[in-house]
Amino acid sequence: MAAKKIPELRRCIEDTLPQQPDMEQLALNEDGNINNLGNNFYLFVFPSITDKLRVLYQKPWSVQNKLIVLKEWPIGGTLEEIDFSIEDFWIQVHNILMSLISKNNATMIGGLFPVYHYSNVSEESVVQWDGNLNIRAAIRVDDPLKVGFALKRVDRADVNVQFKYKRMPEFCYSCGRIGHALKECWFDNSLFKRAGKYGPWLRAGSKEKKRQE
Ligand SMILES: [Zn+2]
Repeated sequence: MAAKKIPELRRCIEDTLPQQPDMEQLALNEDGNINNLGNNFYLFVFPSITDKLRVLYQKPWSVQNKLIVLKEWPIGGTLEEIDFSIEDFWIQVHNILMSLISKNNATMIGGLFPVYHYSNVSEESVVQWDGNLNIRAAIRVDDPLKVGFALKRVDRADVNVQFKYKRMPEFCYSCGRIGHALKECWFDNSLFKRAGKYGPWLRAGSKEKKRQE
């Protein structure tokens, strides 16, 4: 399995990689190891398929709050052929109407992302229901995060369906991109940068509501 960090993270991760607790949680026990391939690539060798699948299911991973894009390296493929521009996330869909919770609608919402994998809503029932519609989808790591969409209703006010991302590393509250903080934003040249469309409410588990604009 190969991993590539997004470019601006290079030095801080490379310096500290083997000692990071998050990295230890990748469960590289005595039979596994990490190999630095150079040029910001690392190769993780897992001792068992079970360990590998668990790590893949729990993606995304991060070190020092910086995203690591983790990909399987196909036996018949080269490193250069692996697409490191997208990474899988669990995305909670909040504020959805009960009447719209279905496998088909989950697929439609998942279609807003570059790659949609599956959801926690099954064909027959919502037995995996935990209070949220959860979709497994890949996001493009260099693009602003998708925040949700407005849902029109016939005789009532529109509702804002909101996305919340699990295990989201650092991202910018100004431009919505992963990999830098608001004060470091080079997409926003304003003197007083501030959160608006993006903010901590995009993290799953965040109690904070999106502030009114
Ligand atoms: Zn930014």
